[in-house]
Amino acid sequence: MCVVCRKRMPKDNLLRLVMISGKMVEDRQCKLQGRGTYVCKDCEELAKKNFKRGGLI
Ligand SMILES: [Zn+2]
Repeated sequence: MCVVCRKRMPKDNLLRLVMISGKMVEDRQCKLQGRGTYVCKDCEELAKKNFKRGGLI
């Protein structure tokens, strides 16, 4: 599920974002440890802006 628009969709359509040491990293292999969240491609830019403002959505 995308945390921004809350639509359900296959994981193939979602991008995992992980916060590491205050930076947001795209976890394309789903291997990174840390606070992760999933967003769809439509919401990727919005999610990144929200990360920059500090904190997960
Ligand atoms: Zn979305």
